Amino acid sequence: MDCTTKGTWVTFAGGSLGAQAAVVLVTKADDGWAIVTDRTPFHPVSLSWLDQPGDRGWMTLADGQRVAVIDSREGLWNVATATLADAAQKRSDPDIHAVVLHVVDAAPPAVGDIVTLEVDGDYRDALSVQHTGVHLAALALNQCAARFWTKDPGDPDTLGVPNLDKMAVTGSTISPDQSTDIYRLGKSLRKKGFDRDAFLADLSACGQRINDTLRGMLSTPAPVVVGPAEGPLGDRRHWSTRLNGVDATMPCGGTHVADLARIAEITVALSGTEEGFVMTTRAVVV
Ligand SMILES: [Zn+2]
Repeated sequence: MDCTTKGTWVTFAGGSLGAQAAVVLVTKADDGWAIVTDRTPFHPVSLSWLDQPGDRGWMTLADGQRVAVIDSREGLWNVATATLADAAQKRSDPDIHAVVLHVVDAAPPAVGDIVTLEVDGDYRDALSVQHTGVHLAALALNQCAARFWTKDPGDPDTLGVPNLDKMAVTGSTISPDQSTDIYRLGKSLRKKGFDRDAFLADLSACGQRINDTLRGMLSTPAPVVVGPAEGPLGDRRHWSTRLNGVDATMPCGGTHVADLARIAEITVALSGTEEGFVMTTRAVVV
């Protein structure tokens, strides 16, 4: 069971949509069967940051039967106990390895079978477009919010301005049409020097400035890379591109368009909440 020595080998970061793989584990899931293979092109929803949903697609079994993969999720395999661990288990435990669970609601393959995995490319692409959109929107939000810091909080983003997005985001949901990010502007942020009241009073103008910034970012399209292109699921990955000629990079475990030229427009809408604000981001392809 090779994959359990370092987890599932994943190829989604490099844009892969298909692979042949060996089944290493079959286990009952609430909604069917969860199948672990030694390698996979499927991007699973993360256990720790649920922003991008898991890929869907198909699995062709050894007998030629093609079954739907209705979801894919990150799971934790405990080598010592040969069982799936629960999400609370420490990732630093050397016995724990991240695996991709492919969920099927049909009769599953057997351990040792060779299967062909195919990702639903349209669904993956739609999520990738929105995920790229939300990264650019986060950087544009940081730029718009920069003037509301009364002192330097000492946590710059990749473009050198205070990283409000990272410091305030409490939840992020990416769907094929848009993304929703929820921000909390609490006491600790105020202590770091963020003028919450002035920012919220300026919210609609800020939304306009973010949209102008996003237009500028898309005016000089550049390739987008998520790397390493393949490796164990538990490895850290980074997203990088160039924005107006400046290198931009940030940690990211999701999937993205291969080039900003794919995206015609990214727009955001901001609205105040009791805790802070919500940013809805919509990216539209060319
Ligand atoms: Zn990301």
